[in-house]
Amino acid sequence: MAYLPDGNRYDGRMPYRRCGQSGLLLPAITLGCWHHFGGDGPTTNQQELIYRAFDGGITHFDLANNYGPPPGSAEVNVGRILKDLPRDEIIVSTKAGYLMWSGPYGEWGSRKYLLASLDQSLKRLGLEYVDLFYSHRFDPNTPLEETIGALETAVKQGKALYTGISSYTTAQTKQALDIAHQRGWTVPIIHQPNYSMLNRWIEKDLLPSAPSLHLGIIAFCPLFQGLLTNKYLAGNLPSDSRATIPGSLLRPAELSETVIAQLRELNTIASQREQTLAQMALSWVLRSPAVTSALIGARDVQQLQENLSAVHKTQFSTEELSQIDSILARIELPPSLWDHE
Ligand code: NAP
Repeated sequence: MAYLPDGNRYDGRMPYRRCGQSGLLLPAITLGCWHHFGGDGPTTNQQELIYRAFDGGITHFDLANNYGPPPGSAEVNVGRILKDLPRDEIIVSTKAGYLMWSGPYGEWGSRKYLLASLDQSLKRLGLEYVDLFYSHRFDPNTPLEETIGALETAVKQGKALYTGISSYTTAQTKQALDIAHQRGWTVPIIHQPNYSMLNRWIEKDLLPSAPSLHLGIIAFCPLFQGLLTNKYLAGNLPSDSRATIPGSLLRPAELSETVIAQLRELNTIASQREQTLAQMALSWVLRSPAVTSALIGARDVQQLQENLSAVHKTQFSTEELSQIDSILARIELPPSLWDHE
């Protein structure tokens, strides 16, 4: 049967936050399609995730050229499912920066790569334009002016409405925005950094600077890929978990007994707040008004539904925050791929 969106989806169940000082409002929770959206053709589970997300007020779906596996298949699958949603009610994001095809033009930040990649993404998604196009990572070997100029071209060509950057340091971010302002180009409106209770690098400089830079912040992996949920609290690796995927970016040190014991302490605070650990971790990311959206992943609708209710409990008492801080201060994790300062 054809999907009919829930008529009450804008009844206040999802708050929308302004992205920087742009005209764009984003849902406090965005659905990311890095995991669980690859493969050969959309599955019923993928459809259900997107339909129930939209019914829950999620209007923003985040992709990148290389999401799969195989790379590119998430854009194909999600693009097919999004055809069932009203195009003017959704924000579709994609990115380019990581390795997508072989040869010298298949990754990083050149004009050649970014614009070719965007064309490929549009074809896979079956869209004429994306709402947001990102430089997925800073390229130390390409002039920043060329990368930001390519984002400007994407907008001029009508292939993207807004632009963003991901995992740039604060200094690189300021430089990127300065270039756009000086040239009279489209100014990136959003930064997509890794941010969660277990990776707080943006709190030092990027997050406090964001309001004055008129920059929205969308926090990726706010659940630290599942560590900040009840998934690993029992001390074993459930077979249906990301940690068991060969080459998973969740590393053994992150799943040590000491870390799990500390996560249990966080879970006690979550229970006192009448939340699950996942809900508290999302509420915690959203406690700052400078965070526009928490960019989550979900394996199934049950996880998604649990996470959605986090948006209504983003207030923390001073005591809760200091208890959480004291636990987090004791958690020792190896430096992450996505630490930047
Ligand atoms: P995440 O929200 O930190 O982790 C999602 C995972 O946590 C799920 O796949 C699931 O793990 C587990 N989970 C979620 N809700 C749960 C619940 N209620 N109970 C138990 N487990 C739960 O985010 P992520 O999937 O790592 O990344 C989110 C998005 O960020 C990506 O889809 C992508 O759009 C974006 N991203 C961007 C970059 C970048 O460089 N810009 C990098 C990474 C990600 P299982 O699958 O194990 O069940």
